[in-house]
Amino acid sequence: SGRWSKAMSILKEFEEQCATPVGKLRQVADAMTAEMHAGLASEGGSRLNMLNSCVDNLPTGDEHGLFYALDLGGTNFRVLRVQLRGRHGRVAKQEFTEVSIPPKLMTATSTELFDFIAKELARFIATEREGFFVPPGSRRELGFTFSFPVKQLSITSGTLIRWGKGFSIDDSVDKDVVVELTKALDRQGIHMRVAALVNDTIGTLAGGKYFNNDVAVAVILGTGTNAAYVERAHGIPKCHGLQPKSGEMVINTEWGNFRSSHLPVTKYDQALDQDSLNVGEQIFEKIISGMYFGDIVRRVLCKMAEETGIFGDIVPPKLKTRFILKTPEMSAMHHDTSLDLTVVGRKLKDIFGISDTSFETRRVVVELCNIVATRAARLSAAGILGILKKMGKDTVKEGEKQRTVVAVDGGLFEHYTAFRSCLESTLNELLGDEVAHTVVIEHANDGSGIGAALLAASHSQYP
Ligand code: ADP
Ligand code: MG
Repeated sequence: SGRWSKAMSILKEFEEQCATPVGKLRQVADAMTAEMHAGLASEGGSRLNMLNSCVDNLPTGDEHGLFYALDLGGTNFRVLRVQLRGRHGRVAKQEFTEVSIPPKLMTATSTELFDFIAKELARFIATEREGFFVPPGSRRELGFTFSFPVKQLSITSGTLIRWGKGFSIDDSVDKDVVVELTKALDRQGIHMRVAALVNDTIGTLAGGKYFNNDVAVAVILGTGTNAAYVERAHGIPKCHGLQPKSGEMVINTEWGNFRSSHLPVTKYDQALDQDSLNVGEQIFEKIISGMYFGDIVRRVLCKMAEETGIFGDIVPPKLKTRFILKTPEMSAMHHDTSLDLTVVGRKLKDIFGISDTSFETRRVVVELCNIVATRAARLSAAGILGILKKMGKDTVKEGEKQRTVVAVDGGLFEHYTAFRSCLESTLNELLGDEVAHTVVIEHANDGSGIGAALLAASHSQYP
């Protein structure tokens, strides 16, 4: 019928605009490398902030003592404690709790958000039992994973550059987030010192390296996306004079803010951006991270409903509700292996109130999920290639034993199987067989929380 062929042409147009042939991915990778150079050359030299993390030494394994960590940066907020017992005892004991952040706090005031965090921390501290031990005379110390771009002045201070991922609290921009947290801890009567302020990418890198010394890159693919890597100190012109003993510095790329004319951007992505809290920012993130996936699919479905009536004469109202389709649901539909796509049918009914869908319609939905997830996975691989190029790890050097481990964390990578396998195969495809053998992608499970605790330990004020 006419309806159906119109729907097919919308699908086909979307598919073409999302295409990521290898040539395009190489252009994206090269653009990423170029932006990294520019961001390191001067402050504000690129949309990539290329932030100095003030971490010049990653954990060694000798870390000792009881440390807490807070992880704030997406849908959930995590609190954990670890008892570290040095090189042989390692992480002797760990406990954590996870709390979802009430959405209204994400756009409230700085005080309200930090008070909420401090209260949850106080509640968690109250459950500390045997197995955890603070030497007499010292205070408990805390690593704070804060996954938004921060201009760090030292390992224990940094001012917020901008929010993202649905957070938008104007009164905390340009303020020192450690000062804000410390004030909230004081209000709760918590006597803890913030020993390290780190981005989740830095935490993942630190946590990853603690368990595997070859880890040199960390990538987050969750609600948002970002990456960090180890740079040579003299490769950072904007930090002139910086001479850490290690000769290295960990850089938080803030690659979520990457954009390039080579990125396949559709009118649905543009509309999503226009409706967002941070218009024109985080364009790479809006294409490749979990917060936005479902909404891209929803927008295409909505367009089909409007123009072709495939869901009946009126557009189902829920199809117009932003962010109603979450990535886990999208993933469940994408991975539906039943013969008649039962899962897709049920989700369409439960989420959008669309019942009695035909098999063909369900197939279209699966195809949309596939297009969005594939584009994202392939672009993520291109981004990783960009970093490997910057590090000179995209080629095998004669006589050099080389192994680079990329630690990846985040719910999208962890749970969205089709996304993850596409990312892995695309990276291999881009690197070619010989180099692919020297690059390993590793899942770093909650590396960021442990990593923050480890960095708190290596920056402890107690011997
Ligand atoms: P955050 O990025 O908020 O710190 P996570 O790393 O746990 O937290 O990632 C959460 C994100 O991962 C969710 O926003 C969602 O996009 C994605 N995600 C979580 N569970 C699944 C799932 N089962 N399938 C696909 N994506 C998922
Ligand atoms: Mg996280």
